Amino acid sequence: MTLHVLITVDTESYAAGDPDRHIWGHLDDGKEYGIRMIMDMLEKRGARGTFYLNVYEAERHGDEAIRAVISEIHGRGHDVQLHTHPRDRYGIEKLTRADVSRQREILAWGKDFIEAQTGLDVIAHRAGAFAANLDTIEALSLVGIPVDASLSPAWFESHLAQEVVSNNRPFDLRGVLELPVTYYVQGRFGKREYLRLVDIEASSLRELKHIVRQALDAKVSTINFLMHSHSFVRNGRSDLALIKRFEAVLAYLSAQPGVKLSTTTQFHELWKSGSLQEHSTERFTPRTGWWLTYLRTLESVGKGWKNTVAALLPPVVLAASIGFLFIVLT
Ligand SMILES: [Zn+2]
Repeated sequence: MTLHVLITVDTESYAAGDPDRHIWGHLDDGKEYGIRMIMDMLEKRGARGTFYLNVYEAERHGDEAIRAVISEIHGRGHDVQLHTHPRDRYGIEKLTRADVSRQREILAWGKDFIEAQTGLDVIAHRAGAFAANLDTIEALSLVGIPVDASLSPAWFESHLAQEVVSNNRPFDLRGVLELPVTYYVQGRFGKREYLRLVDIEASSLRELKHIVRQALDAKVSTINFLMHSHSFVRNGRSDLALIKRFEAVLAYLSAQPGVKLSTTTQFHELWKSGSLQEHSTERFTPRTGWWLTYLRTLESVGKGWKNTVAALLPPVVLAASIGFLFIVLT
């Protein structure tokens, strides 16, 4: 059984962003830290990625700007699939605010835009902010997009996660192959589980390795791994620590027997041929625990005051408690 790791890149500029910075990653040092860098790193490992492209921002930046992105990704043999932030073109923030027929119209427009450039069928979709629902699944079916990757119990806006039960494994959802964005349990507090997305920006290298080992043990067929075109760009600067982490993740994955870096198209072809079977219907629940969570926050010291406080609070509280006890007892 092979574990297929799908590196999926939501390719978009922020609401007030620009493709030059947030898709291509051009920074003031004259270098690029965007999609070309991500593709270079994948190709170095003989792999390709899946780029979920928000084509609706063509309304703001011009069709040519978005076509250039499609050409570059497709030209290098990576997957160009559809990402829906419909606001620029349709005036609605999230797909879930539209009914089935409107969702169908939005999806069809995006699908046509990409296909006109690649000549290939768009086979997969991820909703912006994971805001998909069962109407989205119906609309995908109607426009002929056979794969969705928007289900995310670890994200509060994932309506789909409230409408259907998923076990963190691929499954057939009313004729559409649902590839949940893989999540893990970072800890529990009583009965409450604290879930987190498998995301290069949100998870440490230690956590990611831990999850991959558990995925191999659980014999799941895929990890759907999240990142963004602007993952390596933070506050106008390059995030070298994150680039290093991604490089280390790819090195680790490439060296693991039984692990393959695949595109969503490749995965879907195997799924259709019937050669990928989930060996269990049990929920795949990789657990990382509070200790790894704490080590992650330690890595984030200096990246925003919240991270710094979270990392420094436990030792400060511990030291204060010991000091207090010492004073009381002596
Ligand atoms: Zn997005």
